[in-house]
Amino acid sequence: MSASCILADALLPDGRRVDVTVVDGVVASVEQATPADRGTSGPPGGGESTGGDGDPAPAPAEPPEYHDLGGMLLLGGLAEPHAHLDKALSAETVVNATGDLIGAIEAWHGHRGGITTENTMARALRATEIAVEHGVTAIRSHVDVGVDIGARGIEALGEVRRLCRRLVDLQIVALVGVPLTGSGGAGNRRALAAALDAGADLVGGAPALDPRPAEYVNVCLDAAAEAGLPVDLHIDETLDPDARAIIDLARGVLDRGFPHAVTASHCVSLGMMRETDQREIAALVAEAGVGVVTLPQTNLFLQSRGRRTAPPRGLTALAALAEAGVRVAGGGDNLQDPFNLMGRGDPFETASLLVTAGHLLPDDALRRVSASARDIMGLPAAEARPGATADLVAVDASSGREAIAAAPGTRKTFKAGRLVAHTARRVVVPGAPWA
Ligand SMILES: [Zn+2]
Repeated sequence: MSASCILADALLPDGRRVDVTVVDGVVASVEQATPADRGTSGPPGGGESTGGDGDPAPAPAEPPEYHDLGGMLLLGGLAEPHAHLDKALSAETVVNATGDLIGAIEAWHGHRGGITTENTMARALRATEIAVEHGVTAIRSHVDVGVDIGARGIEALGEVRRLCRRLVDLQIVALVGVPLTGSGGAGNRRALAAALDAGADLVGGAPALDPRPAEYVNVCLDAAAEAGLPVDLHIDETLDPDARAIIDLARGVLDRGFPHAVTASHCVSLGMMRETDQREIAALVAEAGVGVVTLPQTNLFLQSRGRRTAPPRGLTALAALAEAGVRVAGGGDNLQDPFNLMGRGDPFETASLLVTAGHLLPDDALRRVSASARDIMGLPAAEARPGATADLVAVDASSGREAIAAAPGTRKTFKAGRLVAHTARRVVVPGAPWA
């Protein structure tokens, strides 16, 4: 067994300074770093091997990658459980004239038919690069599918997935349009089937936008069951406390014994309901084993527009879901597109909003964009622990809280123990009194 990577002198969130050894993409050991290790610029002995006297020289083993982290904080890999890479970075070319949801829908659907595969790929690749730079090693992207555009977005993102496979685990969700039900939905149902044939990893959609949300949910669950795939639905982005698509999904999963993973994204209406309803529905969601992804930035951007007094924040019922034992992750959603003009593609930004607007404690918020996000994505745990996947990020911070608050510009992203991105922030203030 040979080491493939050594991350020396890492600071763990519990305060330990350790050396992490990675073999074949998995953390093999985590040992206390000795003071003598600190400040070295290479592996002990220079990482070179010599043959023994008189023995035939063995073929030189490939030396392990060696990274002296110098006390950088080493965290489990960040994950983006809900992106829209096909829409990302289009805010300048697909202009949302009013800045609200209707403006976004009108702008996007007026333009999407004319967007080329090359343009989609270029923006998706740039958004992926931004994410990886920030420490993300897993992305789940919803991708538009519909009667007007077919499955070409899925094909474009499939190529992005292939090109980026060394950097990031990319999951592609077929986000099918409306209507999906009734005779008017036949074209979208065919487009969904084509998307699954084209390589989508999950079935997705937005039931609250269909005239028959419960039937929409059933169409998605049936299509996913037939294809043997998980489901991730945009449940709703409405402040209407009477919306019920989350119930339709949980009951649909329980009634048919749906065997694959199911995720409910947004679930904004749940946050608007009475506490008794929240508790009842959260218990149902927990029973069905459905995971929830909350998307604070886009919902803060889109919801409550026009409400001048006490505008709701548009987040789901985080406390009720936690009390019921529902797995909840945090995602970034749209990135500088008509649906969200802001966004830095940094999970620390999402975590910060979960602290500020969702009132989670920092360590909890950090888990939602790392361990919980990977769990909901069906990925193995990634952290500095023997046996865990070595998808890790080192940041220039002394604690998880500081990392979220400061969003350090100095980071190192490790995928399967290999360095895949390194950013370094340099500040120059000549004559500064603190120098
Ligand atoms: Zn979304």
